[in-house]
Amino acid sequence: MKLERTVADLRRELAGAPRPVALVPTMGALHEGHLSLIRRARQLGATVVVSIFVNPAQFGPGEDLAAYPRDEGRDVRLAREAGADLVFAPPAEEVYPPGFNSRIEVGDLAAELEADPARRGPEHFRGVATVVAKLFNMVGPDVALFGQKDAQQALVIRQLVRDLDFPVRIEIGPTVRDHDGLALSSRNRYLSSSERRRALGLSRALRAAEALVEDRELEADRVLAAAHAELEEAGVVPEYLELRGAGDLSPAERVGGETLLCVAARVGPARLIDNVILRAPAEGTLRPRPLTGAAT
Ligand code: AMP
Repeated sequence: MKLERTVADLRRELAGAPRPVALVPTMGALHEGHLSLIRRARQLGATVVVSIFVNPAQFGPGEDLAAYPRDEGRDVRLAREAGADLVFAPPAEEVYPPGFNSRIEVGDLAAELEADPARRGPEHFRGVATVVAKLFNMVGPDVALFGQKDAQQALVIRQLVRDLDFPVRIEIGPTVRDHDGLALSSRNRYLSSSERRRALGLSRALRAAEALVEDRELEADRVLAAAHAELEEAGVVPEYLELRGAGDLSPAERVGGETLLCVAARVGPARLIDNVILRAPAEGTLRPRPLTGAAT
């Protein structure tokens, strides 16, 4: 497996590489969520490229850029074991040389939820879209993989690719969770053991909503109330807990075809996000219930 640091070396290495080329962009501190995307990329691509770049442009002034976990040696080993052929880990000056002065602006999708000025702000998805566009131009992948864990980011990238005609197919991998339900995140390592227990409130809230929907409760107010109750019980105050259309983030009054329930909350020093896609059960389907007691 190769490790490259400059765009020139990356391009030289990829010039004759077997296609399709599959790209998994990451900020490092790799965990099973990233590795599941790399393994999927291995199935899809003849050449698998993993980028590791903590992108300063997507961090706000009050965010954890300096503290963001970095362990390149471990990341390179894990990426190789998961099936990467090439890791691209450029220094910041390679991506943003002196004089760099362009930004890609993705419209409405990138203007709310995470991008609300009270949260990460509008600069966040500008930073994401810009670095992803640059990575696409640097690597020239046929397919690029992202995680459903960052649902809004996945939509922003789909829009970017559609609008700017990037010849790359986007595949979204499912959220990988710890055994207790906590969505894996590089930021989980900021949590103490008691904070980690509280953080479970996020996935429990999503599960409670999901259970209600399986029981055919589709009204947003009720579904959200069930989720809020779990958060409250865990002592977690959400920054937002919202039901949105899964394709365009439009506000949803009811759970319809595919509806995104997304949550963000600060737990101790970590800002955590999670989501689930809710689907109204098809008419006539019976919800499988757990068996209790003896059969009659
Ligand atoms: P990050 O390093 O946090 O920028 O994440 C890199 C990629 O991994 C993004 O596409 C994320 O959506 C994805 N990812 C992060 N956490 C998870 C997870 N728990 N399950 C699946 N994908 C994830």
